[in-house]
Formats: sequence, structure tokens, C-alpha cells
Amino acid sequence: MTMLERSDWYDIARDTSWTPSYVTEEELFPPEQTGDLGITRSAWDRFDEPYKVSYSEYVKTQREKDSSAYSVKAALERARLFENADPGWISLLKTHYGGLVPAEHDAQTSEARMARFGLAGGMRNMATFGILDENRHTQIQLWFGHEHCSKDRQFDWVHKAGRQNQWVMIAARSYLDQMMLSRDAVSTAIMLTFAAETGFTNMQFVGLAEDAARAGDFSFANVISSIQTDEARHAQTGGGVLKILIDEGRKAEAQRMVDISFARSWRLFCILTGPSMDYYTPLKYRKHSFKEFAREFIVQQFQRQILDTGLDLPWYWNDLINEMDYQHHSYHLGVWFWRPTMFWNPPAGVTPEEREWLEEKYPGWNASFGRCWDVITENLLAGRRELTYPETLPVVCNLTQLPICAVPGDGWNVRDFPLERNGRMYHFASAIDRWIFEQEPEHHQGHLSIVDRFLAGHIQPMSLAGALQYMGLAPGEIGDDAHGYAWVERYRDPALARRAA
Ligand code: MN
Ligand code: MN
Repeated sequence: MTMLERSDWYDIARDTSWTPSYVTEEELFPPEQTGDLGITRSAWDRFDEPYKVSYSEYVKTQREKDSSAYSVKAALERARLFENADPGWISLLKTHYGGLVPAEHDAQTSEARMARFGLAGGMRNMATFGILDENRHTQIQLWFGHEHCSKDRQFDWVHKAGRQNQWVMIAARSYLDQMMLSRDAVSTAIMLTFAAETGFTNMQFVGLAEDAARAGDFSFANVISSIQTDEARHAQTGGGVLKILIDEGRKAEAQRMVDISFARSWRLFCILTGPSMDYYTPLKYRKHSFKEFAREFIVQQFQRQILDTGLDLPWYWNDLINEMDYQHHSYHLGVWFWRPTMFWNPPAGVTPEEREWLEEKYPGWNASFGRCWDVITENLLAGRRELTYPETLPVVCNLTQLPICAVPGDGWNVRDFPLERNGRMYHFASAIDRWIFEQEPEHHQGHLSIVDRFLAGHIQPMSLAGALQYMGLAPGEIGDDAHGYAWVERYRDPALARRAA
């Protein structure tokens, strides 16, 4: 049988736009779903995706990716990696799967919105592959993570985290709702695929894969690298849409979408990826710090991409880069401190050698974060573990739903950025978070943070037990120090204790 070359038929096959006769164009593509910003329909015909693929090519490649991931997994099971891994690495897997599976799941809806309401045939075509991609990412990560459930109950959260009122998951859902689920096709393309996927998924899926390969977890390294090859393809939808917006004089709208999404994505990756890279990955497998990865994958790459499209850097660019020195350290401290409310066991990551590494990568760490860990270490050495648990609630940011925290000790810079609106006082972690809230107050103003819910009496009884039940943490799932406090023993040696002080 004679086959045509792909280039001979691709443009005809992908351009499935036709003129409706039973309904009007506007009924078929209502502006509240397309988000067309008033741009004329013919302008969308210029949409062009750099990565061309036919359905049969797509299926063949995806099948190869899956069979490679499954065969690596089978080989690694024989090597009993799970049984022999450091508990910090196991916690990293729980964080990743619990946090990412709901995002992959919801991304199917976002891609489906673009597949139905995208105004260019090529865009709808790419988004159709995008739905299949996100379906694959949901299923394979559900399976790779949840199958450990028989060995460790916390892995049940790979499946259930997305529906729980656990505080990190409330933060994640608030992000997914704003960026992915409540958007029209155009703003989904820009906020999800351009800002979040182009900007951040490299960090999680390439950066973490490097650590995973060094740690011998080739199964995890393989599955997340194969996911990133899909992300790199379908994320290009955003670039194509962005070009049309800028050509048609809608740069200000596009800029605003990028500025909102970029900062929101940063905070969520900061709490999920930051501690994973700088505290959970065993020291001997670390090569780059979170900050070094962030500077390479976020600052340099995204800066180039933003400027290439004709957009400007977000107005808060330098402030956000400054946060790379400290924000994830404070999130890590908070996660460990509130460890009973976590669905993974956070490692402290502060042995004398780890503190030396932290000080080297983040000069000044000992004088700021280190001083909080000094107090925790002293209390644990003296057998006063009860003093290492929280007694009050943190102030939670009404945008990100994450605690308001920054640098402790020397260099203290923690402050609230409040806003009063319609008689309610809102609190924010930074001027950036408050600005995002003010761009779309209707998105956020009715939402209650976990602390608001506690104060409103939604969480009963008003105790730790009541809070754990509210968050869905069943017995056997409640977090504790990943190494069972064994690291504290290192400080009983007086010489070491002096060196760390
Ligand atoms: Mn995905
Ligand atoms: Mn994606």
C-alpha cells in the first residue's frame, strides 16, 4: 500500500475548523469558554505548533515509553530498592506522588477544555494528545506509588491526597482550581502550559530525575523523565497562543496571566520540591541544591523564553529570585514541626554533615534556620520531645493557603501583608501574593483557609485529634520524623555538638 508522507497530509488533517450551520459560531465557541479576548477568528488560523505528530506516531511512541518504564520497575523490584532505600527517599516519593497525581488528574480537564474550546485546529489537536498524556501520567504514577501501600500505609495518599483537607493539599487544590480548572481555553494555555509547565515541570521532572538516578531509583527516574517528554511537547500550546495574543495587541492581558501563574506555581513547587532536594534526598546523592536547580531551570530558561516571546519579566522577578535563598527552608521547618499533620514522614535533614552542606550552599543558614534547629536539637537531646511540637496555629496566607513564613534568627524578615476587603481581613505572605489576590478577588474572597475553618468551628473537636481527623489522617498515616530521631544521637558526641554550634 502506498503511504503519503506526513508532511503531505498533516496540515489538512489537523485543520478541522469548519463553518457551523445548525448553531452560530458564538454558540459553538462561547467567549467565556474560549477566552478569545475579542481577537478575530481568522487570527487563530496562524496558530502553529513546532512539534508535529500524527496519532499513529503518538501511540507508538507512548507505548514504548510505558513499556520501558514498566520493565525498569520490574527489574528494580528484584533489587529490593524500596526495602533498602533511605527513609528520606521514601518520603520524597510520597510527597511527589501525593502532590502530583491530583495535578496530573486535573490537567486532563484543562487539556480537554483546550481540546474543545481552543480556537485553532492545531491547538485542539495538540490538546487532544495532551488529554491522553495527562491520563497516562495520572495512571502510571498512581500505580507506581500506590502499589507500595501494602508495605507502608502512607502510600494510600498517592490515591487519596487530592480529596483530603490536609493543609498542603488544600494549598495544592487552591492552585489547581485557579490555574487549571476554572479557566477558559486561552488562559489555560498561557497559565498552565506556558507559565507552569514550561516554567516548572523541568525542575520537578528533570532535576529530581538526576537525584533519583544517583540514588539508584531508576524506576522513579525513568517514569518522571518519560513524563517530561510529554510535558515538553504539549506545553508548546502555550507558546503558540501567546504569539497570537502578542501579535493581536493583547500583551498586557498575556503578561498578567503569566505573572499570576508564575508566582503561584513557584510557591507550590517551593514546598514540594524544595525540601525534597535539600533535605529528603540523602546527602551522598545530592549534587545540586534546590536553589541551583531553580536558577538553572526556572530563572535562566524561563527568562530566555519570556523575553523571546516579547513579554517582560514579571514585575516581582528579583523578589522571587531572592526567595530562592530562604522560602523552602522555612517551609521545610514548618513541615517538620507540624509533622503529625503530614502524610509523609519528613526527615529533619540536619545532621552535622548536612548542616555543613546547607551552610555551604546557603551561606548564613546556620545563623538563621540553624538557630531554630539548635533549639529543636537541644530539646530532643534533653528528652523533651513534647517541646518540639506546635502549640498554636500558624498564620496562613489567604492566597496560597501556605503558612506565612520567611527567615528566622539573624536576618528576620517575616511579616504579614494584610488587605481589608468587604469587611474581612485577609493575610498574605508577600506583596506578590496580595497583588495576585487583587487581580481576581472573586476567585479567592469566599475561601476559608484551614485556620479560618478552625476558628469558625468547622473542625471538631478543636484539638490535634480533631484536626487530624478533619485532614483525613488515619492511624498509621500520621507523620513523624523519618529517621525516628536517630540523627539526634549524632549530637551526643561533644566534639560534634561543639562543631555544629
Ligand atoms: Mn502531566
Ligand atoms: Mn501537562
